[in-house]
Amino acid sequence: MPEPLLKIEHLGIEFHTRRGTLVAVDDISFDVLPGKVFGIVGESGAGKSLTGQAIIGLLEPPGRIGAGRIFLNDQRIDQLPYHQMRRIRGKKIGMIFQDPLTSLNPLYTVGKQLVETILTHSEMTPNQAHQHTIALLDEVGIPAAEKRIGHYPHQFSGGMRQRVVIALALCVSPSLIIADEPTTALDVSIQAQIIALLKGLCKEHDTAVILITHDMGVIAEISDRVAVMYAGRLVEVGEVRDIVKNPKHPYSQGLMGSIPSLHHKSEELTQIEGTMPGLMEIPPGCAFHPRCPHAFDRCRQRRPGLIDTKPSKVACWLFENEDRSGNT
Ligand code: SF4
Repeated sequence: MPEPLLKIEHLGIEFHTRRGTLVAVDDISFDVLPGKVFGIVGESGAGKSLTGQAIIGLLEPPGRIGAGRIFLNDQRIDQLPYHQMRRIRGKKIGMIFQDPLTSLNPLYTVGKQLVETILTHSEMTPNQAHQHTIALLDEVGIPAAEKRIGHYPHQFSGGMRQRVVIALALCVSPSLIIADEPTTALDVSIQAQIIALLKGLCKEHDTAVILITHDMGVIAEISDRVAVMYAGRLVEVGEVRDIVKNPKHPYSQGLMGSIPSLHHKSEELTQIEGTMPGLMEIPPGCAFHPRCPHAFDRCRQRRPGLIDTKPSKVACWLFENEDRSGNT
């Protein structure tokens, strides 16, 4: 097993408000291996995007890291000063957001934005950066790249703009890309193309990806490992093939039930009853208990920790007797 590229240890994210401290991400730990796709999945409000923002040092105040540590290649990065973190964001961690216009400046041609990013973070000459930009645009599937390099973001369709953003994220060969809902704003027909592109390019460039999405179908398509989040907590983590085949946590089962497939007609898709609690309404015990069809007394009183059920880890009292971690 290779050394992890990224290590998250007991990360907590909190918001100080006049009504007290609200915990939005609560004691989560996971590793991301080099060149692999790690999915984080859950409904809106689960804490997925905040986790991504904490990793790249872009948490918006009053949000802050209240606990835990983040390591990139064994270097602790959660306490770095702003200018150092900015350098890491440019060179070692790339970003792809839901809306491509978050990453692209509407006032500059896409070529200028790519060339300037390459020049800032590499030793290339302007001519080399120009040629590299054309090659990258070509690689991400922009037709007539030599001509399109001089076009502005508004001259591209949504799908083509997201391809440009992928080129921008890859242009300095980062070891990690954080992709936050990269296909949610796109037409369904374009979504599959962008996912396939991201998957192929990251494999080719040996770039690890943290893929943040509410869509278990996208996770099943592209990820190697997955963490399922609910109300700021990790409820299941493991290899995608294991969790897709045999989701153990009742919330993971609910997410799996919402994926359309050849075997499910759309009317057979299941929905999880109820909604994710807000930060001020997280119930005691297992946060999922008000929505869980299997809840029993202990679920309402005590919070389950992650239980190593091999191959996945699950935070659910139903698996209490299946702990195979060797812990007693
Ligand atoms: Fe359901 Fe209880 Fe498991 Fe929570 S701990 S998911 S409420 S069975």
